[in-house]
This record gives sequence, structure tokens and C-alpha cells, in this order.
Amino acid sequence: MAEFDVDLFVIGGGSGGVRAGRIAANHGARVMLAEEYRMGGTCVIRGCVPKKLFVIGSHMKDEIEDAKGFGWTIPPASFDWPTLIANKDKEIARLEAAYTTNVEKSGAKVVKTRAVLEDAHTVRLGTGETVSARYILIATGGAPNHGKEIPGIEHVISSNEAFHLTELPKRIVIQGGGYIALEFAGIFAGYGSDVTVIYRGDNILRGFDEDVRKHVRTEMEKRGITILTGCTVTEVTRHGKDYTTHLSNGSSIASDQVMFAIGRHPAVANLGLEKAGVAINPKNGGIQVDAWSKSSVDNIYAIGDVTHRHNLTPVAIREGHAFADTVFGKRPVQVDHATIPTAVFSQPEVGTVGLTEAEARAQVSHVDIYKTDFRPIKATMSGRDTRVLMKLVVDGSTDRVLGCHIVGDAAAEITQAVAIAVKMKATKADFDATIALHPTAAEELVTMRTPTARYVREAAAE
Ligand code: FAD
Ligand code: NDP
Repeated sequence: MAEFDVDLFVIGGGSGGVRAGRIAANHGARVMLAEEYRMGGTCVIRGCVPKKLFVIGSHMKDEIEDAKGFGWTIPPASFDWPTLIANKDKEIARLEAAYTTNVEKSGAKVVKTRAVLEDAHTVRLGTGETVSARYILIATGGAPNHGKEIPGIEHVISSNEAFHLTELPKRIVIQGGGYIALEFAGIFAGYGSDVTVIYRGDNILRGFDEDVRKHVRTEMEKRGITILTGCTVTEVTRHGKDYTTHLSNGSSIASDQVMFAIGRHPAVANLGLEKAGVAINPKNGGIQVDAWSKSSVDNIYAIGDVTHRHNLTPVAIREGHAFADTVFGKRPVQVDHATIPTAVFSQPEVGTVGLTEAEARAQVSHVDIYKTDFRPIKATMSGRDTRVLMKLVVDGSTDRVLGCHIVGDAAAEITQAVAIAVKMKATKADFDATIALHPTAAEELVTMRTPTARYVREAAAE
């Protein structure tokens, strides 16, 4: 008789849990995976994938408008929100089924129920059954935060509900200045909603390069999105189907929906962590793990958003794969969390990898900036008032490219490719030696010859 019912119990069928379960099973482990909602997790069901489908669809408004300058006469276009939702739901259901099939094909068993820890080697299922496991992987992800309780918070939706609205709101107020707020601001504006973004700080996208922040804000405003900074939502009141959002600056806004996108918290509540002795990281509220994703308990690991490190799908996947290779594949791997490329699918899109100008200036003594902003070729005929930003941050002493920041069409696609060069520690000379691919926007990255700014820190006097 085996000592345990399974070698690995995975709690959570999202990006990280699915990858870990599948790879562990490929390595010969007996795996059981529990998912309480829908297989695929946040990314597939109510995150990256449906969001990107929404973004693609909302972009079509620009395409239709831009077509005129190229000679097209398009009959008055109309848009049907229920069709978008139904087609999106169909695609997500297809992906959900594919995720279940792929896990099962690997030999792992999927149980569609909640699972919590009973002790360090026992998991209790929603059915009341218990399963003993040699190793347990916590991959429960995260959930939207609504911040402190304000009057009328029950009227506020999160991204979870935004994917299932029965009607397109004519007017929507969105609080937050990060990824989700800006992505949904672009989505709703693209489909024709009147969008107001409320952000507490002085400018959106805190943590991104300053030039990126300014450029995105200007471009979003050109697209008709109102961005109010330096204020927060203090109360939401309902009048029939309408809402009034009251702000800390004393003003108020009427709308059909109010959405908050003010961060997400790791899903650690009521998981039985204390019963198993699993510690929480006091700095971020996620499960505390070491560089191997091992928790404070030797046989319990945690990966993905529940550890609140870098809350991105490819990171969760990489951590899940590394865990499975390390523990079951006799191939110890630690995930390198440095230089992770990321994109905000706002409109226009942001792609970024490596250090911002401010980070570089704090870390190295000589920084050269290569920056350009220009009218993209399409806009010359469409007449659209828009500009693209491209910026390279270079270590002037070593010539290494430390960061690349792009705002404009295809920024995410370009950044994925540039990230390889940045990760390989390419120098500015390597970029310069690369022949341009013409006519593209990305060719600017290999044709900027003269620094637009240079910052040299004097060596401290002895
Ligand atoms: P999740 O994918 O959240 O999976 C956790 C799973 O565990 C869930 O299915 C949950 O139901 C299940 N679960 C929780 N508790 C239990 C329990 N006790 N028992 C059983 N099951 C349980 N990232 C990107 O890289 N690119 C993007 O464009 C992007 N867009 C996003 C857009 C939105 C709107 C959101 C919200 C997120 C987006 N993200 C994006 C982030 C990305 O979705 C997450 O980083 C990723 O899904 C994390 O994967 P995970 O496996 O850690 O957790
Ligand atoms: P973000 O952390 O990106 O942004 C949160 C925003 O809310 C910030 O502007 C923050 O302001 C503001 N905020 C935080 N707390 C409050 C508060 N109490 N009152 C008012 N405003 C507040 O979180 P999101 O919710 O947008 O997304 C969660 C995570 O999901 C992202 O960080 C990212 O990891 C992931 N994601 C990735 C995407 C992608 O890869 N394209 C897309 C969507 C999500 P401040 O800056 O001042 O703190």
C-alpha cells in the first residue's frame, strides 16, 4: 500500500496549477488537482484571454474610422454587445474544456470542488472526503480587492462582473490607474461608452517609466477618456438604474456602471493554512515561499498569484513548471524573476521590459536615453491624431540596453521580441548593428543613434 493516496495534490486549476499538475504527471507522479470554479483559472475564464478578445473587438472602431482615409466607404457600423458576450463565452467554454482534457490526458485526476488543507499531508474536499498527499501545491490565485468599505460598495463591479454585463454601459466610472482599469477604460471607450477614470495619485500607471505614463494619459484623453487624478471614490448611490459616484474632491459623476480595479489580493482565506503551519508573507499577504516556491512547510509549495510575486500568467506557468521539474523530474530549477516583459493592453498599448529611466538612474552612474515619438505611418492617411513612443534606457558605461518602453500599436508584440535581446544583455551597439526592417515602427529601436538625454553621476569625493 502506498503511504499516501497521491504524490501531489494541486489546489487550483489556473495557469500555474494546471502546468504543475500536468508536468508532474508526465514525470510519473500520481496527481490529483482540485478546481472550485472553472478549469483554466483567472487568465482563461476572467482575465487575459477574454480581456484580449474584448480589446481586439473594441479596436475595430478605430479600424472602421481609419478606413475612410484609405478610400473605403463603410456602411454605418453598428455594434451588438450580446453577440460579443455570447461569442466570447463560447470560446472560453471551449478553452475550459481543453484545459480539463489536457490535464486528464497527462494522467492527473481532476476533481471539480473546493479543497482546503486539513494538515500538512491531508486535503479536505468540498464533498467532505479527505485525500492524503506526499506533496501539496497551493495555486489558488487571487481575487479583486475593493479597498476599504465605502457606502454603496455593493453597487460596484470588478473585472469579474465586467465580463458578463448584459448591456454595454453608456457611461462607466472606473476607479484605479493600473493594468485592469486602463485596459477596461480602453475596452468600454472602444465600444462607445463614455468612460471616466478616477485615480488617487498624480498620474496613472505608477511604477512605469514616466514618459510612458505621460504618453498613455495624453493618448487616452485624445480618445475621449476622462482621467481625473488626485481623488478617490467616497460613496456610490443608486437611483433606479443610474448611479452617482461621489468623489473625495467634492464632485460627483452619473453613470450606468461603477467599476473598481484597485488591485487584487492573494486567495489565502479559509484555506486551512494555519492547520498545516503554512506561513503568510507579512509584506504582501501572499504565501511565503523561498526561491524554489517552497512554503514554510517542507512538503507544501505555492506558485502564481497566491504568492503575490509577479502576478502574470507566464510567471505562474514558469513557477509551476519549475516546481514539477524540481520535485518530480530530478531537475532542480529556480525561476529567474529578473527582466520580465509586460504589456498593458490599454489603447494605445504599452510594452515594457527592463528598467525604467528612474530605476536606471538610481542603479547605474551613467545612463543614456534614446527616445523618439512620432506619427505612425497609418495615421498619415487616416488623419488620426496619435503618436507612438519608443524609448531605450542604456547603461552608458557598459553600453548594455537596460530597458525598452513602447506605447503604440503592437507594443506588446514588439516588446516580446526585444525582451530576448534585453535578457541576453544586448548592448546598444548590438541594436545599432541590426539592420532596420522597413517600413515598421519598430525599426526606430535600431536607428536611434544620438542620446536624447545623458545622466552621469559624479563619483563621490574620497
Ligand atoms: P489563477 O489563474 O487565479 O487560478 C487559481 C484557481 O484556483 C482559480 O481557478 C480558482 O477558482 C481556484 N481556487 C482557488 N481556491 C481554491 C480552492 N480552495 N479549491 C479549489 N480551487 C480553488 N496576466 C498576464 O500575463 N497577461 C494579461 O494580459 C493578463 N490580463 C489579466 C486581466 C485580468 C482582468 C485579470 C484579473 C488578470 C490578468 N492577468 C494577466 C493576470 C493572470 O490572470 C494571473 O496572473 C494568472 O491567472 C495567475 O495564475 P494562477 O495559477 O496563480 O491563479
Ligand atoms: P494594479 O496594481 O495594476 O493597479 C491598481 C491600481 O489601483 C493602482 O493605480 C493603485 O494606485 C490603485 N489603488 C490601489 N489601492 C487603492 C485604493 N485603496 N483606492 C484607490 N485606488 C487604489 O492592479 P489591477 O487591479 O489593475 O490588476 C491586478 C494585477 O493583475 C496587476 O498588477 C497585474 O499583475 C495583473 N494584470 C496583468 C495584466 C497584463 O499583464 N496585461 C492585465 C490585468 C491584470 P497606486 O498606483 O497609487 O498604488
